Amino acid sequence: MARFVFITGGVVSSLGKGLTSASLGALLQARGYSVRLRKLDPYLNVDPGTMSPFEHGEVFVTDDGAETDLDLGHYERFTGVAARKTDSVSSGRIYQNVLDKERRGDYLGRTIQVIPHVTDEIKDFIKIGEDEVDFMLCEIGGTVGDIEGLPFFEAIRQFQNDKPRGHVVFVHLTLLPWIKAAGELKTKPTQHSVKELRSIGIQPDVLVCRADRAIPEREREKIARFCNVRPEAVIPALDLTSIYEAPLKMREAGLDRQVLDAFGIDVAPPPNLQKWDDVTDRIHNPDGEVKIAVVGKYTDLEDAYKSLNEALTHGGIANRVKVQPEWIDAQIFERGDAAAYLEGFNGVLIPGGFGERGTEGKIRAAQWAREREIPFLGICLGMQMAVIEAARNQAKVKDAGSEEWNTDRAERGEKPVKNPIIYFMPEWLEGNETVERDREGDKGGSMRLGAFPATLTEGSQVADAYQDLAISERHRHRFEVDISYREQLEQCGLMFSGLSPDGRLPEIVERPDHPFFVGVQFHPELKSKPFEPHPLFVGFVKAAVAQSRLV
Ligand code: GLN
Repeated sequence: MARFVFITGGVVSSLGKGLTSASLGALLQARGYSVRLRKLDPYLNVDPGTMSPFEHGEVFVTDDGAETDLDLGHYERFTGVAARKTDSVSSGRIYQNVLDKERRGDYLGRTIQVIPHVTDEIKDFIKIGEDEVDFMLCEIGGTVGDIEGLPFFEAIRQFQNDKPRGHVVFVHLTLLPWIKAAGELKTKPTQHSVKELRSIGIQPDVLVCRADRAIPEREREKIARFCNVRPEAVIPALDLTSIYEAPLKMREAGLDRQVLDAFGIDVAPPPNLQKWDDVTDRIHNPDGEVKIAVVGKYTDLEDAYKSLNEALTHGGIANRVKVQPEWIDAQIFERGDAAAYLEGFNGVLIPGGFGERGTEGKIRAAQWAREREIPFLGICLGMQMAVIEAARNQAKVKDAGSEEWNTDRAERGEKPVKNPIIYFMPEWLEGNETVERDREGDKGGSMRLGAFPATLTEGSQVADAYQDLAISERHRHRFEVDISYREQLEQCGLMFSGLSPDGRLPEIVERPDHPFFVGVQFHPELKSKPFEPHPLFVGFVKAAVAQSRLV
């Protein structure tokens, strides 16, 4: 039977609960235990799929096609355990399930209440697949005291009593602010936060305290006394230079030991952290640096491209170089010459995106990379723009464009795209089944979501990178490259080197006569891990390193 760790947060948000949970997962794994991590989000959206990246950061897509919180990306990157649909839930989804059951009459006419109906639904969710792992780690989004979060806190409080003694441990993350005038790290916000938690019946076993400097013994003891935890269970979490140091630092601070101790589990033997030592060594001692221009839209918000940023770091780890990404707003290329902005970069990456804004700039960036033989990686929308660029400038398909732009154009009273070589496909095959997509359907419903297989062309750059001809990658998009342009584009040097197994959907394009020019319809960044960097990012960064040595 699994043991459960609940990770909650207090004082302020953004303290790194996701990273703490992921690090704890990695540490338990390093001791030979199996783990699964889950995120319970109190907001009312059914999932983050329809939330703007400005609101919620990146939408992390799982193999089974769920649109989830970006923390699931951290979990996967740190533990290598592929997240599933059942690893992420929101209040919205919980209430939706409860209301669906109520409409179906499942509650036999009883009055539906937060306790027990909503809390039971939450507990049922937490338990899914509990027999599969040694430890289930559940992170509760938001901070203690938030109104939306209350049913979750109540559910985990009850959960403790539903399980045998010693099967549930609570870890609470707080902040110790440094007050300059007093020259002290202050413990009062932590005391209040734990008081809040205890007032709803939860006594934390371990406190993880974020601080920007070492926590003096005196403060640690004070926290222990006022918050009713053992002094050694007050774990300092100081700022890090790289997130991949977190498992090592958390280990030094004793997080895994304290959690195991709270379960009454023997802490010997120590965890094997060799792979983390290797990863951090490569990050701290690189043999050089490459500069990558990331030409996108949400350039002000790093969280919007979280996995991408990490995958670039992983590509750097594999090649033992530091990757310096610079985020450039695609729209500036529409006003001036792309060369003026892109000169000096060792690679150009166009990430995924939605809508027409900035697309002409992205097309110019792809053109520049092609003509100047600068390593190029186009992801999802990035691939679509590279295809449009080839169609317009090489195959002379005048007015080539994407059907995606037509919604905006219709609103502006403009004519639709004449040659939509990127188009909406109303149906496709999944295994032997035809899946239909409704263009007008709800936003999530009209997307190709989750893992799909692709077959690669023997001898291609991508086959070489993957060292395989059969791959599976995660998708999140509505539009596809029209396969009927294949011959025309291949004659211009844009090879369709990856297709869906039925041969109908272009999955990868590349340029055999270019040092590295690859466009992919899927999101390779979602599967990259520090100790298992994604082959396309390894190849892209490698090409950027070669380019940097040319100049
Ligand atoms: N907007 C494009 C589509 O829906 C690309 C999506 C993406 O980049 N994830 O097809």
